[in-house]
Amino acid sequence: MFKKVTEVVKVANCPTCSRGAKRHSNGRKKMKDIQGVLEVYYSKHYCVYCAKNFVNPAVQTYGPLKCRSTWAFVRKALDLMNNLTLEKAAEQLKRDTGNVMSPTTLHDWKIRGDFSTFLCESDTEKKEEELT
Ligand SMILES: [Zn+2]
Repeated sequence: MFKKVTEVVKVANCPTCSRGAKRHSNGRKKMKDIQGVLEVYYSKHYCVYCAKNFVNPAVQTYGPLKCRSTWAFVRKALDLMNNLTLEKAAEQLKRDTGNVMSPTTLHDWKIRGDFSTFLCESDTEKKEEELT
């Protein structure tokens, strides 16, 4: 299943100083979800006080920052790994969600543990970040 959501606002609060910052462009990212794929359109902002770019913080309600998977997907993967080997967990994820995960990435997730500061950096993500 493919689902689209839009998180585009004219002004968003800067995560550093909480002052309002205007939108300068839009971005888009596809996230793996338990029900297939979630595509998130979001606004990008620039804070003139901090001289920093940031992504509409609302995007983090869907999944961890800089991560191409939703919270629900990450949680499901971590749950599966409690009972299954990495390979079996990857197979199960593909069967249930249609999304392919490499056992290597799953291993990274497993050893990272703390979810609240969960980041999954990737080169493809950087490429998408540059899209305007
Ligand atoms: Zn700021």
